[in-house]
Amino acid sequence: MTSSPLRILLLGGTTEAMALARALEGDARFAPTYSVAGRTRAPHLPALPCRSGGFGGVAGLIAYLHVEALELIVDATHPFATGMSANAAAAARATGTPLLVLCRPPWTPQAGDRWHSVPSLEAAAAALGERPRRVFLTTGKTELAPFLTAPQHFYLIRSVEPPERLPPRSAFLAARGPFSYDDEAALLREHRIEVLVSKNSGGTATAAKLAAARDSGVAVVMVERPPRPPGGEVVPDVAAALERIAAHQASRRPTERGV
Ligand code: NAP
Repeated sequence: MTSSPLRILLLGGTTEAMALARALEGDARFAPTYSVAGRTRAPHLPALPCRSGGFGGVAGLIAYLHVEALELIVDATHPFATGMSANAAAAARATGTPLLVLCRPPWTPQAGDRWHSVPSLEAAAAALGERPRRVFLTTGKTELAPFLTAPQHFYLIRSVEPPERLPPRSAFLAARGPFSYDDEAALLREHRIEVLVSKNSGGTATAAKLAAARDSGVAVVMVERPPRPPGGEVVPDVAAALERIAAHQASRRPTERGV
């Protein structure tokens, strides 16, 4: 008995999406296409068919799903990539395509943490206050605008690629996670950091900065996640996603499985 592979659109751009893609590589039960937004000049890509760039909103995604005869959408985008996730949910609804959402749980404060939770980057910039502080900013290259309005602070800015515009008192560090505890602690010391600004991304790749901040007495301004669009089945990790993808493949009717 033969069966055709399950055609999957894997919306990526995260550590978990890459791990999931790698787990699907070479498995004859699945035919995944890995999709990235195309913002990074040298993105990490798996050894799978890949595509880069937006679909053209919900309508474009619906058309893509039809043309490619896709049977499952896996949204493994970043928890702050709300535009793509909303489009995926809407297109899944409109086409009846099952949607699996791989969303890592958020970080939660532990004993010894000095967290100040805020709802947005603008609120994070305001929370730094008037007095000049030394700030470690890890929010990403496209999200500096609110901090340009608070130029009294010194910012150590870390992202994969350099931002277009830096605040007047700043240093830029090009780096891609994962980051180790020792390196993060050394960075905080070296730059005499007083406050860390982070989005509540969750996951392990960039969590060491929080432990280092805790142990160094560095305050954390934590930008909490926007709400997730409704729809889809949400799983917290790659293992659970693989289980559900295999279940989708196994539950197809014989004609869908090419028997
Ligand atoms: P976004 O605001 O949700 O997406 C804006 C638009 O970019 C989407 O409407 C879509 O364009 C396109 N797009 C986004 N992700 C895509 C994907 N995986 N494949 C194809 N098109 C995609 O996203 P964002 O916050 O700018 O993030 C962009 C990418 O970077 C995401 O894939 C995300 O996983 C990754 N990332 C984001 C963050 C973050 O903090 N936001 C952090 C790490 C990684 P169309 O409407 O034209 O389809």
